[in-house]
Amino acid sequence: MNRPLSNAEIADKLFGLAYLLAAQKENPFKVKAYRRAARTVRDLSESVADLVREDSDLTQYSGIGRAISSVIRDIVETGTTRQFDSLQSQVPPELAGVLRFPQLDPKRVLRIYKKLKISTVEELKDRLESGEIGRALGPRMDQHVRRALEEHQEMLLYEADRTVPLVRDFVTERCGATRAEPAGDYRRRVEVVREIHLLIETADFPAVLAKLKTYGGKADLLESDSQTALFRLSAGLLRVTAAPQGKWGAALVAATGSRPHLKELEMHRPGLRALFESPESYLSEGEVYGRLGLRFVPPELREGRDEIELASRSALPSLLTVGDIRGELHAHTTSSDGVDTLEEMAEAARARGLDYIGISDHSQSLKIARGLSIDRLRNQLRFIDQLNERLEGIRILKSAEVDILEDGSLDYPDDVLSELDYTVCSIHSRFRLGKEEQTTRILRAMDNRYFTILGHATGRLLLKRPGYEIDIERVIEHARANRCFFELNSSPDRLDLSAEHARLAREAGLRIAVTTDAHSTRELGYLRYGVDQARRAGLEKQSALNSLAWPELMAVVRR
Ligand SMILES: [Zn+2]
Ligand SMILES: [Zn+2]
Repeated sequence: MNRPLSNAEIADKLFGLAYLLAAQKENPFKVKAYRRAARTVRDLSESVADLVREDSDLTQYSGIGRAISSVIRDIVETGTTRQFDSLQSQVPPELAGVLRFPQLDPKRVLRIYKKLKISTVEELKDRLESGEIGRALGPRMDQHVRRALEEHQEMLLYEADRTVPLVRDFVTERCGATRAEPAGDYRRRVEVVREIHLLIETADFPAVLAKLKTYGGKADLLESDSQTALFRLSAGLLRVTAAPQGKWGAALVAATGSRPHLKELEMHRPGLRALFESPESYLSEGEVYGRLGLRFVPPELREGRDEIELASRSALPSLLTVGDIRGELHAHTTSSDGVDTLEEMAEAARARGLDYIGISDHSQSLKIARGLSIDRLRNQLRFIDQLNERLEGIRILKSAEVDILEDGSLDYPDDVLSELDYTVCSIHSRFRLGKEEQTTRILRAMDNRYFTILGHATGRLLLKRPGYEIDIERVIEHARANRCFFELNSSPDRLDLSAEHARLAREAGLRIAVTTDAHSTRELGYLRYGVDQARRAGLEKQSALNSLAWPELMAVVRR
């Protein structure tokens, strides 16, 4: 090996290996283990190649066991591993190039290759640009390829949550910065972060930049001037901006944004820019907003909507917190596609300080997620009765995530639905219906008196798939008339309702259930992402359906 591999390159190899193993129908746990190790490697601030050279024990890092540790050594020393090469030789040669793009679905690519008589990713890109893929295979295919080929730098908020503390420590412990504080999209808790922005205090900015170039083995410096610099890390983009201590508060406001918020701030005399130029110091953001005649605006609200007007008359909402949430309303167990048992989920909810947990496994039509037949559901309901007798300190509510079928009917008959405490009703099929059909489908479903909460309203998967279109105003109006609720699904790759939709629902006076859709006890921890998003929508405690204690909740959800 002449050039040491960066963490990103090593991680790519591991991701590739996971992909090839999956293609060979290898044990899914093994596949998962490789993916987990790949993520660990990708996110480490230290250079893995250096660690291998220094003969450090790699198993000290989470997700790296003995076997994978020796695979990593192979990769660092030889640039590859025998297993990778032999597996790669078994996939059709035209698919080898596809390996570089983990989001590309090989089956779909083969269909395109066949139809357009091409065989390389380069040709694929050309045909995408000329619009041929869309014309020959439809807009969905066009979109799939477009997204998968995009070497996007954006991060989901929870990915940024993994990276930010590492970068922050690196900057203060290795690069000589005396202070580092996250700003930008990340601090405003935007669900997709374009770049991580760190505000730092340092006497020697060029020295910090020089050291940052070694982050994760190698980080590309994309642009820099005397105060700010942009790097490409394996996890995404990192901007660092230097600020003097005396102007820290003003610099933090500026670095946190958003642009529309800053633009409006500028209209409040003397304006943010003037504060930078004045001889006075502004150590904290509170001092900055105070000088502009405003209350402190929580970062989640800084989007240039109505927050400055509200701050000027001390009318900002008192935003929802994780502690306001009394119970979980959307959780899966091993009965459908969850990985932990009902009992484990209940105990984990109690350990998190919740008073109740609603179990909402999938309904009968969703075969792919082991949806419950009527008999299995009834067994589960009996089991919940027994557990409720026995368990202290947690109440288990009877629910189901009921599929909304294509014609708007629900996936269990009414007599079965009537045995549940409430329902979460979701769309998991026929995503391609048009806006009008999808909207009517939901309105129809809401006409059923056993419909309680609309699950993940648009079905979006962030950075993967846009949601189906719905007429949100009509759905909100119908929900209000029929006393239904929305869910804000906290799963970090959904966060569905969007902040915009959640804001509209709140303004219409609807309560929103902030749920995790947990498929494991660990995922109950996703709640904070839903709460972040709820805060961005200006939700207060009383707007969250599950801030209610369960007896009150039961009264509210009855129709
Ligand atoms: Zn669902
Ligand atoms: Zn679910």
